Amino acid sequence: MTRQLTAHIDTTRTPLVSKIAEIVEREFFERGGLVLSEASDAVDLTLTIRPGIGLEGFSITATGAGIRITGNDERGLLYGVGKYLRGCTFGEDANSFCHCTWTGVSVPKRPVRGMYFASHFHNFYHDAPVEQVTRYVEELALWGCNALAVWFDMHHYNGINDPAAQAMIQRLRAILSAANSVGIGAALTTLGNEGYANSPTELRADWTAGHDGYFAPPGGHYHVELCPSKPGGLELILKCREEMLAAFADLDIEYVWNWPYDQGGCTCSDCAPWGANGFLKIAPPYAALIHRMLPRAKVILSTWYFDHFIAGEWEGFAQALGNAKPDFADYILADDYGDHFPEYPLLHGVPGDLPMLNFPEISMYNMYPWGGYGANPLPLHLQSIWDACGKALSGGFPYSEGIYEDLNKAINLQHCWGDIDATDTVREYASGVGSPELAEDITTAVLLMERNHTHRLVDLPNQQELRDQLFPEDGGELACVFIKHIADPGAAFQCDEIMQVIERRLTRPAQASWRWRVLRLRAAIDAEIARTGGRMTVALDAMLEELVGIYHAQNAEAQVCPHSRRSILRLVAE
Ligand SMILES: [Zn+2]
Repeated sequence: MTRQLTAHIDTTRTPLVSKIAEIVEREFFERGGLVLSEASDAVDLTLTIRPGIGLEGFSITATGAGIRITGNDERGLLYGVGKYLRGCTFGEDANSFCHCTWTGVSVPKRPVRGMYFASHFHNFYHDAPVEQVTRYVEELALWGCNALAVWFDMHHYNGINDPAAQAMIQRLRAILSAANSVGIGAALTTLGNEGYANSPTELRADWTAGHDGYFAPPGGHYHVELCPSKPGGLELILKCREEMLAAFADLDIEYVWNWPYDQGGCTCSDCAPWGANGFLKIAPPYAALIHRMLPRAKVILSTWYFDHFIAGEWEGFAQALGNAKPDFADYILADDYGDHFPEYPLLHGVPGDLPMLNFPEISMYNMYPWGGYGANPLPLHLQSIWDACGKALSGGFPYSEGIYEDLNKAINLQHCWGDIDATDTVREYASGVGSPELAEDITTAVLLMERNHTHRLVDLPNQQELRDQLFPEDGGELACVFIKHIADPGAAFQCDEIMQVIERRLTRPAQASWRWRVLRLRAAIDAEIARTGGRMTVALDAMLEELVGIYHAQNAEAQVCPHSRRSILRLVAE
């Protein structure tokens, strides 16, 4: 039997307020079988807006038997609803529902709480049904996410009219429209000297090293990028940009990124050092174009991989920008892959005296395939990086390859929201996925998972041997060892035991949710690897296949595909 609860929307029903009401109704029904109906007095839940709390902030207060969620503005109301929903108890029996017990006021400290979805390699963002991606975007907003970046990666296509380019534009537009509908500003990732696959060879950028100070070739260069120092190069860059921005111009684009390397860059004598020279030949006219076409958009100038291939880029870039805010950038983005934030802006201040954003790695760190074993929670790792750079930041855009690092997204969004400790965010996440009373046990399990974070594949044998080992004709044991043994088998067994106990205490909707499944599978997969030393088993194969299904990774490339038997054979055959 379903139970009725009453809600009162005590504010103008703008499209976003209606969307918020829809999300609350959906969560109540899906997680607790509760039907929310509207009333105006003696209500269980009141949603309202009252400025004065602080930009994008909210308050949650008890009102007799009910709860009132007040947003400073529409976004604040949405984030308050997110906080509330994660604290509610949804029992198996609808009568066991309890409101979130957290009350108080919360206002974000940092203005930019973004996310970057990499939509490639047939990962979730690339291949999942678009309704699932848009639903996911809505759920991210509940954590305070207010900006979402995607990249129309030109090098795949022969011009903007290439049918494949148009298909990608349509998909990215759907994702960004979903973001806009839930109060998330859209952001476009672009490379400074980006080029199409059929860019004119005579205008292409140099990527060689060993001259002009370059001690290494730029990582991840596509070799179709354009050189802005060659006659006609800058003009072509801007022409392609104008077409591309026009394809997104009717959306609410809040940010456009201008990115130097990985991919991108030109190592020619006239552009060297790229970050302090060629890249800055593009930045002012490109920013002027952005301001003309997307008047609301702010420009984020990235410094990614400065000083990785040539020395002195940070210094030269800082000199070029000076101490006054330049008119071609509103934010500086800085970060590095792995364990450290770049030292330069922490020691010398941010060039141009601009606010700084980060680009934390939450997807690929020390695990291959990425997401290949289920969830990859990294609370202690992400906390240590945040401790080093958080106070210098105005927000950031974590790099995301899929939904398996959903918990890492929450950690970063809450770091940006209010320097909230990563373990506290794990607890709040666990409360939302399981229930408040299971939050502590799930947190214990997550911390055990992180102790076994590093996962690697071993070198695989040839196709025929693989087939014999993975599908033995005698029906005997599978022989193939394909994962390196994990570091702490004791922690893996303990984690799996805790998760088994938790699972029995979850409601059926919680047990079936993908957020629980990716955590549960990670624990069980680690325990199975610990038991067998990394050998494929029928049980392990079934768990990896379930992950393939959750990620829609049936056609995924190796780095984003769980290596079930079927996936391994497909990938070695390709
Ligand atoms: Zn050049």
